Amino acid sequence: MNVEDAAEELASELGVETAEVEEDLEKLVSYSVPLEEAKSSLRRKYGDGAGGGDTPPETDVGAVGPDDGSVTVTARVLTVGKRSIQYDGTEQAIFEGELADETGRISYTAWTDFALSPGDTITAGNAGVREWEGEPELNLGESTTVTVQEEPLEVPHEVGGERDLADLEPGDRGRTVEVRVLEVESKTIDGRDGETEILSGVVGDESARLPVTDWDPHDAVAAGESVRLEDVYVREFRGVPSVNVTEFSTVEPTADVDVDDSAARMTVREAVASGGVFDVEVVGNVIEVRDGSGLIQRCPDCGRVVQNDQCRSHGAVDPEDDLRVKAILDDGTDTVTVVLGREPTEAVYGGTLEEALEDARDAMDRGVVADAIADDIVGGEFRVRGMLSVDEYGANLDADDFAESDDDPADRARELLAEVTT
Ligand SMILES: [Zn+2]
Repeated sequence: MNVEDAAEELASELGVETAEVEEDLEKLVSYSVPLEEAKSSLRRKYGDGAGGGDTPPETDVGAVGPDDGSVTVTARVLTVGKRSIQYDGTEQAIFEGELADETGRISYTAWTDFALSPGDTITAGNAGVREWEGEPELNLGESTTVTVQEEPLEVPHEVGGERDLADLEPGDRGRTVEVRVLEVESKTIDGRDGETEILSGVVGDESARLPVTDWDPHDAVAAGESVRLEDVYVREFRGVPSVNVTEFSTVEPTADVDVDDSAARMTVREAVASGGVFDVEVVGNVIEVRDGSGLIQRCPDCGRVVQNDQCRSHGAVDPEDDLRVKAILDDGTDTVTVVLGREPTEAVYGGTLEEALEDARDAMDRGVVADAIADDIVGGEFRVRGMLSVDEYGANLDADDFAESDDDPADRARELLAEVTT
C-alpha cells in the first residue's frame, strides 16, 4: 500500500482531512518509520481508538506471513541489538533482534524500549508485520503491548548472540564475538554530524578473519589486543560480512584469542560462487595483464585512477603517480582479476615507483613498465591470497600476497580434475 492510499483509508477511518493525514504520514515515512507503525501513531494522534485498538488473535511465529497486518505472538527473545536512527531531527534508539517459538524464528524491530533481554519469553500483542526482502518482520511500537511470561518457552534455537566469526551473516544484529584485533587504523569520514573519527581494521578468531569498523572508537580496539565485543551488527562490505561496533556495543578486554592464520584455499569457481571471501587463497596461471596496469595516476583527493588529469568527481586535478597490476588469473575453473597495490607491484617489477618513473622517462613511454611486468608474469603460475569480491563487472581479488606457486603441477591437475568431475 502506498502512502496516498493509506492516507485516504486512514482519513475516512478517523474522519479527518486526507491532506492532513497524508502530510503526517509522508513525514513519518520519510523518517524511516514503517507505514503500519506510522498509521498507528496517527490513530493515537487523532485520538480515535477505532481500527488499531483490537488485539489480534495469537499466532505461531512460523505462521506469520508478510501480508499479515498485525499479530500477537508469544516467543522467546533470542537476541537484542541496539542502534540509533535519526527521527524527527533527533537521535532515537531502536532495538533489533530475533524472536522464536517452537514453530519458527522471526526478526523484530522495537521502536520503543521494552527493556527486552535475550532469554525473556514475551507476549507481543498487536505487533505490526512488514516485509523485508520477502520475509516477514515484526514491528513492536507504541501500539504493541509487551508482557513478560514467567514460564520460559523452550525453543530449538540458541538464546543469546554469541557466535564465531565464521557464522556471522550480513543483517545479523545483537551479536557477541570474542576476537583478536589484527590490524586497525583511524580514519576520518564524512558522517551525518560532519567529520567523524572511526576505526577500521581486521579481527580474527579460530574460525575466520573479518573486517571491522568501530563507529565510536573504543580504546580497547587496538592492534594485538583480544576483546569481547557485545552487541555488534553485521553488514555486507564488498560481498563479505563486516563486524560493526557502535556506541551501544560493550567492548571489554578478554583472554588471548587464538587466530587461525591460514586463508581458505578454494578454486576460483568456489570463491566466486560464495559471493565474496575476505581471506582466500587461489592458485592459477596469469593469462593476461590488463590495461590500467603499471604506471597509473590517481586523484590526490579521492584516490580514483584518472586519465588526462581529469577526475570523475573532482574535475581537473594534479594527479599523483602510482603503480598497480590488474592481471587475469585462470585456475581452470574460472577467472578472476587479481589486483596488486603499489608494494606487491614494486616487488613484481623489481623496482620502486621512482625507478619505474625513471625507466619510463628513459624510454619516453610510460607503457614500458606494464610491458615489463607482463613479460615477467604472463604464463606463470601464482599463489594469490587476499580478499575476493564480486560485483556487476566480475570478480576481483585484492592481493596481499602474490608469489610464484611451488605446487606440483601434477597434483594440481588431479585436484582440478576432481573439481571438474564433481
Ligand atoms: Zn577525485
